[in-house]
Amino acid sequence: MLNVVCFRFQHYNENTYLAFDSTRECVVIDPGCYSEAEKSELLDYIQSKDLKLTAVLNTHCHIDHVFGNAFLMKHFSVPLHLPEGELRFLEAMPQFALRFGFQFEQAPKEYCFLKEGNQIRFGKSVLEIISTPGHSPDSMSFFSNEENLVFGGDALFRNRIGRVDLPGGNYETLCNSIKTKLFALGDDVTVFSGHGVSTNIGYEKDTSRFICWMKN
Ligand SMILES: [Zn+2]
Repeated sequence: MLNVVCFRFQHYNENTYLAFDSTRECVVIDPGCYSEAEKSELLDYIQSKDLKLTAVLNTHCHIDHVFGNAFLMKHFSVPLHLPEGELRFLEAMPQFALRFGFQFEQAPKEYCFLKEGNQIRFGKSVLEIISTPGHSPDSMSFFSNEENLVFGGDALFRNRIGRVDLPGGNYETLCNSIKTKLFALGDDVTVFSGHGVSTNIGYEKDTSRFICWMKN
């Protein structure tokens, strides 16, 4: 069984997910911890449960999802798994962050690139990598078939879809990702989104305001 813990960080209210199973191996998805207090909160949880972090995963490389990459990578000596097409955003992040008044610590260049169809394995758990671009150019989602859940980054939220006005965003691409990839996972699949509460595929199919487009 996969345990999923959600931390909400910085004023962006970004959801950082920690997933672990009975082996105590864990991954962190989109570590948004920025302040020392936020880093301590995440670290304290990992240590209090005696978890072993095996990887840091980024669904995409917007600033609020990557603040804590370097901290976790250095503390636990683990690699960063990210979509290759998001690397340019990550590498530009120190400069970008300054414009918004943030300090950004660049992560060690220990990258593993996520590719659709590949899997992330930790403990007894498997996450399948699904390409879901549109909110950003190379966004990925991580799907557990066994647990019926998906970490979807900022593609799909409860009652809305991700914004597409940031660099490389594209509305049609995002709708296509939701329609052909996320909706295809099954109605009972829980969606852990990058912001806000979780939702599920069946609910979003029934209630999404863009459902007219989706049915075409
Ligand atoms: Zn984003």
